[in-house]
Amino acid sequence: MEIPQFTTSTTYDVVIAGAGPVGLMLATELQLQGARTLVLERRASYDLSVKAGGINTASVEALERRGLLPALQATRQSFFMGANKEVGAKMSPYAASVGHFGGIHVPARPVDQDDPLLRGRGQDGWYLMLPQVELEKILFSRALDLGVEIWRDAAVEEFEEDEGGVTVQINGQGKREVRGQWLVGCDGGHSLVRMMAGIDFPGTDPKITGRAATVEIEGAENLEEGWQYTSKGVYVYGPMPGRVRTVEFDGPPPDKNAPVTAEEMESSLRRVSGQDIRINSVSGGTRFTDNARQASTYRRGRVFLCGDAAHVHSPFSGQGLNMGLGDAVNLGWKLAATVQGWAPKNLLETYTLERHPVGVHVLDWTRAQVAVMRGDPDACALRKITTDLLGTKDGATHYVKQISGLWQRYDHGDDAMVGMTIPRIQMNDGTCLTDYFHDGRAVLFDLVGNDELATLAGKHTGRLRLVQATSKDAEVDALFVRPDGFVAWAATSGVCDVETLKAALARSLGDS
Ligand SMILES: Cc1cc2nc3c(=O)[nH]c(=O)nc-3n(C[C@H](O)[C@H](O)[C@H](O)COP(=O)(O)OP(=O)(O)OC[C@H]3O[C@@H](n4cnc5c(N)ncnc54)[C@H](O)[C@@H]3O)c2cc1C
Repeated sequence: MEIPQFTTSTTYDVVIAGAGPVGLMLATELQLQGARTLVLERRASYDLSVKAGGINTASVEALERRGLLPALQATRQSFFMGANKEVGAKMSPYAASVGHFGGIHVPARPVDQDDPLLRGRGQDGWYLMLPQVELEKILFSRALDLGVEIWRDAAVEEFEEDEGGVTVQINGQGKREVRGQWLVGCDGGHSLVRMMAGIDFPGTDPKITGRAATVEIEGAENLEEGWQYTSKGVYVYGPMPGRVRTVEFDGPPPDKNAPVTAEEMESSLRRVSGQDIRINSVSGGTRFTDNARQASTYRRGRVFLCGDAAHVHSPFSGQGLNMGLGDAVNLGWKLAATVQGWAPKNLLETYTLERHPVGVHVLDWTRAQVAVMRGDPDACALRKITTDLLGTKDGATHYVKQISGLWQRYDHGDDAMVGMTIPRIQMNDGTCLTDYFHDGRAVLFDLVGNDELATLAGKHTGRLRLVQATSKDAEVDALFVRPDGFVAWAATSGVCDVETLKAALARSLGDS
C-alpha cells in the first residue's frame, strides 16, 4: 500500500500519536464523526512481531457496527485458506474449548447459550482469529478512505499544551510541528505522551519472561501440542505451524526489546520442555512479561490516553488489544462531539470514569492467570480447583462473558440492560439492531410504535437516528443506544418513561 507523505501543515481537531490498532480505530471513529484527524506513527511500516491473534466478540461487534465485518471475515478466510491452509485444520482441537485461563482450556459444552448476555452470539466462537497486523491493515485502509491523514516515520518527540490546543513536535523526515485541539496518546506501553503529560502509571512489577515466535524447528514430534505445564515453566506448541511460546518464572528479561534469537528460543524451550529440540530460525519473535500497570487517569487537560498507553499487562487470554479498541470507541464519539461543539458538559470526563474500572478488572484477570501457571505445589492445587470450576455451567459461562468482552458495564443505573452493549435482536424485516450504526450516530429504537419517541428523536436530528421496527424476539419496547453501541436507556414491559429518556438523551447528546 502506498504510504502517504507529509502534507501541508494545518491545524487538526485531533492529533493521535501511534498508528497501532488502537490509534487507527480511534482515528476512524473520529473522522467518521466529523473530527479532522492526523495520526503520527514513528515506524516506517507495520510491526510484524507476533502479537494478538484474535479479536473478541465485543471488538468484532464494534467493527461490525461500522460495516467492517465483511472485511474482517474475508481477511480471516484468506489468511486461513491461503498460505496458511493447514492452520484452519490445526485449530480443530481447540474447537471444543472456548478459550483458556492461564492455559486451562475452558470447555464449550457447559456454556449457557440462553444467558441474556450471550443469547444470539457465539455461533462462530467468541474470538475471530486474525493476526493483529491484518486488523491494522484493515483499519489503516478504512482510515485513509475516510480521509484521515496518517504520517509514518513521524515520531512525536515533545508537545506543549496551551488554552487553545496542543503543539506537537515531530521527528522523522526532518523536524516539524503540527497543532491539534486535542492530542491522544495511542503510543503503546512505553507511551511518551503519558510520561510527558505527567500521568502516573502505578501497578505491579514483572516477575516472568514470556517468549513467542514462529520457528523452524527440529524434534517437534517430542513436543505436546497446546499448553504444557512443567516444573520449569510453561510451553505452548501450535496451533499455527511452528508457533511456539514459553513462559519462565525467573524474573523479567534484561532487555525486553532486544531481538529474540533462535538460540534464545531454543534454550528456553529446551529448559521448559526438557526435550531435545533444535530451532534453526525464528520470525516475529517477541518477549512479554506480567508487568501490570494502569494510568491513574486517562485524561489530563487536552491530552488523552488510549490502549496500551493507558494500561499494560500480560497477554494471557487475549485482552489487551480488545480493551484498547473498547477505549477507542468509547472516546471517539465523545471527543468528536466536543470538537463539533454539541457535547454535553462532563461528557469527556466519562471516558476515564467508564474505562478505568474496565482496566482495573482486566489487570486482575491477567494477574490471576499467572498465579495458576506456576510449577509449585500451591499453584498446581489452585490450577486443579480452577479447572473444576471453569468446567461447570456457571464457571464456563462466566468465563465466556469475560473473554468475549461482553461483561463490560458502565454505571448508568439499575436497569439490567442499561450500560451494557446492545443486545443482538433480530427484526422482523431481517435486519439486526447492530446494523444501524454505520454512520456513527446514536440510535433510538422504537419497537412498539410510540409517537412520543419520534417527537423526541426529531429534536436531536443529526446526532440521533430513529429506527421504527418490530421484532418477535425482542423483550424490550424501546432502546436508546449511544454511538459506541452501549445502551443508555431502555423501556420494557409496556413502561416507557419519557422523562428518563429525555435525561439520557441530554447526558449523551446535549441540549435538543
Ligand atoms: C505476544 C503478545 C500476544 C498478545 N496477544 C494478544 C491477544 O491475543 N489479544 C489481545 O487483545 N491482545 C494481545 N496482545 C496485546 C496487544 O498486542 C496490545 O494490547 C496492542 O498492540 C495494543 O495496541 P495499541 O495500539 O494500544 O499499542 P501498540 O500496538 O503498541 O501501538 C503503538 C504504536 O505507537 C507507535 N509509537 C510509539 N511511540 C511513538 C511516538 N513517540 N510517536 C509516534 N508513534 C509512536 C508505535 O510504533 C506503535 O505503532 C498481545 C501482545 C503480545 C506482545
